[in-house]
Amino acid sequence: SARADIIDGKAFAATLRQKVAAQVARLKAEYGIVPGLAVVLVGEDPASTVYVRNKERMTAEVGMNGHAFRLPAHASEAELLDLVRQLNADSAIHGILVQLPLPAHMDARKVINTINPEKDVDGFHVVNAGLLATGQEAMVPCTPLGCLMLLRDRLGSLAGYKALVVGASNIVGKPMAQLLLAEKCTVSIAHSRTRDLEAEVRQAEILVVAAGRAELIPGDWIKPGAVVIDVGINRIERDGKPVLVGDVAFEQAVRVAGAITPVPGGVGPMTIACLLANALTACCRAVGASEPA
Ligand code: NDP
Repeated sequence: SARADIIDGKAFAATLRQKVAAQVARLKAEYGIVPGLAVVLVGEDPASTVYVRNKERMTAEVGMNGHAFRLPAHASEAELLDLVRQLNADSAIHGILVQLPLPAHMDARKVINTINPEKDVDGFHVVNAGLLATGQEAMVPCTPLGCLMLLRDRLGSLAGYKALVVGASNIVGKPMAQLLLAEKCTVSIAHSRTRDLEAEVRQAEILVVAAGRAELIPGDWIKPGAVVIDVGINRIERDGKPVLVGDVAFEQAVRVAGAITPVPGGVGPMTIACLLANALTACCRAVGASEPA
């Protein structure tokens, strides 16, 4: 029987990074400006350390200036806020990212909302959330932005599609739903208290899953031909070995869906590529350069 097309997020992300690199070169040639991206890491959370290292490597690869700031886990919130304000005031810094999670003694919301919204390349500032929700020019959170790019590439106009977003976090689910609404999808949002998740999933022509629950969605729930974007990254044991799986049961889903992102190699690589795209966008806006389409 037919199998879904596998959406190659890794290849798409590589192409996006090349486009960003070309635009970075153009900014340098035409304006003499190199986008500067500051990445702030507090403490030594192993996963965060890996993410930050990857972000720094790819920042350099596209020709941007990466600025790494590391504070010890016991640094005070005031120290971190001082650093953020310093970066806000620095004209060589166009994007600021504070890696989450922060240590428990810090108020992440306060720290994020101290970033100049125009430099908020993660798009988590309350002003950016509000701009997105009201259809104004915003910095858009990287993971949902990457999902949207993959959907547009696959479907063209998204207008009129029935879309379901499973997960309602501020960093993935909610902004994803806002983006799909702005594209004129008919959008539903499911979460932990949704009464009949299966019935919701069965109707979805576009299904984006960001619940953080390994293989929450069995393949036979999926509407035949649906486009499935699996944001989940879950480390589980299978046959005694550690494996990475998404929030969708991939091997089942691939027999029903029209197209699906794999885990790994789907949404994951898009997130960092979109971070770089956001840093480029922030720089273009700061210097009044035309923004790449
Ligand atoms: P959160 O834990 O912040 O949010 C999870 C959401 O899923 C919540 O809204 C929760 O509902 C909902 N949920 C949990 N269980 C169920 C269930 N059984 N049925 C329906 N909904 C459920 O996670 P994030 O949004 O931060 O991340 C989601 C996943 O995406 C994680 O696996 C994470 O690792 C991954 N991720 C991947 C990224 C990438 O680059 N590919 C980037 C960011 C995240 P409620 O609101 O009711 O609690």
